[in-house]
Amino acid sequence: MQTSTKGRVYLVGAGPGDPELITLKACRLLQEADVVVYDYLANSRLLQHAHPAAEKIYVGKQAGKHAVPQEQINMLLIQKGQEGKSVVRLKGGDPFVFGRGGEEALALRQSGIACEVVPGVTAGTAALAYAGIPATHRGAATSVSFITGHEDPSKPESEINWDAIAAMHGSLVFYMGVNNAARIARELQRFGKPADTPAAVVRCGTLPTQQTLTGTLGTIADAIKTADMQPPALIVVGEVVNLRKELNWFETRPLFGKRIVVTRSRAQASDLITKLELLGAEVLEFPTIKITPPDSWEDLDRAVRDMSSFDWVVFSSANSAQMFFERIAAAGLDARTLAATRVCAVGPATAELVHSFGIIPDLLPDRFTAEATVEAFNSIAVSGKRVLIPRADIGRATLSAGLSALGASVHAPTAYRTVIDDSHSEDMRNLLRGGDFDMVTFTSSSTVKNFVSGIGPEHLETALRRAQVACIGPRTEETARSFNIVPAIRPGRYTIADLADEIAGFYRGACRNTFKTGGLLEKAQIQGARNLEE
Ligand code: SAH
Repeated sequence: MQTSTKGRVYLVGAGPGDPELITLKACRLLQEADVVVYDYLANSRLLQHAHPAAEKIYVGKQAGKHAVPQEQINMLLIQKGQEGKSVVRLKGGDPFVFGRGGEEALALRQSGIACEVVPGVTAGTAALAYAGIPATHRGAATSVSFITGHEDPSKPESEINWDAIAAMHGSLVFYMGVNNAARIARELQRFGKPADTPAAVVRCGTLPTQQTLTGTLGTIADAIKTADMQPPALIVVGEVVNLRKELNWFETRPLFGKRIVVTRSRAQASDLITKLELLGAEVLEFPTIKITPPDSWEDLDRAVRDMSSFDWVVFSSANSAQMFFERIAAAGLDARTLAATRVCAVGPATAELVHSFGIIPDLLPDRFTAEATVEAFNSIAVSGKRVLIPRADIGRATLSAGLSALGASVHAPTAYRTVIDDSHSEDMRNLLRGGDFDMVTFTSSSTVKNFVSGIGPEHLETALRRAQVACIGPRTEETARSFNIVPAIRPGRYTIADLADEIAGFYRGACRNTFKTGGLLEKAQIQGARNLEE
């Protein structure tokens, strides 16, 4: 972070919503900022780029509700600048396109505070692009106009030259116009724009919650009313709207419009979240577990120091591998510690992690369960061998017991603890209790148990009235079934990638298992569902 005595305020475009539609410059400035001032159109995920110690101030405005008046925002920016801070004023889209960025820049200039502007991806082109509507197109539009749809209706004279824009052979894009759609459509038609000119409305463009309505100038205002479409939305008028029929790519992705709950620990969830989001889903994070260090490292550290006495080390999860290698580093050692030891990784993600520490696993069972791992060791002579299994405090004993039964001398120190994450807002809990989502994903038994206790068992029935359930593997499914939860999805291979693929397949209608109701069965149905599964 900057510590110079002279402050500087950056008016930074946050893009239209998709958190990846931000510039590299915006990202760097966020990382360096002492203070971030943001509003509701700026995706709050962008704050993750900011330094944890940076001061983050919300000055959100929503239509009709001005949380912080513009003058106060200006004062705040000036004050933080005067304190010598590096300030990022994060504004939705582009700060100089209908964002009052000019006013903030002028106020700063008048107070002698240095101010720079970082342009952003404006909604006027981005939301259109995600709706499959090019802003211009040869033969369809030779120009594009960005127009405010928010003119004060009490003004006697419109500042908009309706005559001129109605005559233009181009696309007309209205910002802030949903509540004024009838007037916009009327004025354009009054000045000669044909009633059958194609028109569209795009709400929450570039976000998983994007909604698009299409129609004509004559019908669009009624369509907005019928759908009760609320801001933020753009109205676009022109022949380019017709291209959507062929170019609609975003809303046709397999999981578009699906709200999926991810219950994995925050630290581990990003892989699944990214995969689901790339498939188009809206992901709600409800981490049910947290991975924390064991009460004492003593046991594992002793094993690390004594590594050459072990013939095998078996990593049954990415967490156990991560913790193990961290302890190697803490002891001032490196991967050569494992020179005399063979390595088994249960699952591809674990193998990949082990690989990232410079070790190619010697054994990767073809299915990713404790049972399959024991089976894989069946054909390897482990009798009399020393095997280290760094494990979770609540891990099952299947692996240890199985390898012991094969004659191995097993040592299984605790490498991490799995504890309940109960840092959820009441809003999130209520949303889940109400069942306002399409699917919940469980990636371990503890995610199931903690999800149930997190929302309260008495709410399970309403929560899963409609929503489907996806379980990563047989153990997780077994735990789910113990709560009468019957998964519609359980991939053949127990990996995150397979889980995401199977979910996409389910919604494409390709999944064999087509449950019509939610994931919680009436008692009478339970047996039927079991039969179906078998
Ligand atoms: N500076 C912003 C615009 C701010 S004015 C930009 O460059 O995009 C606010 C208006 O922008 C909203 O009323 C809506 O018309 C439009 N808008 C902003 N984000 C949007 C989005 N994701 N989808 C559709 N319209 C959006």
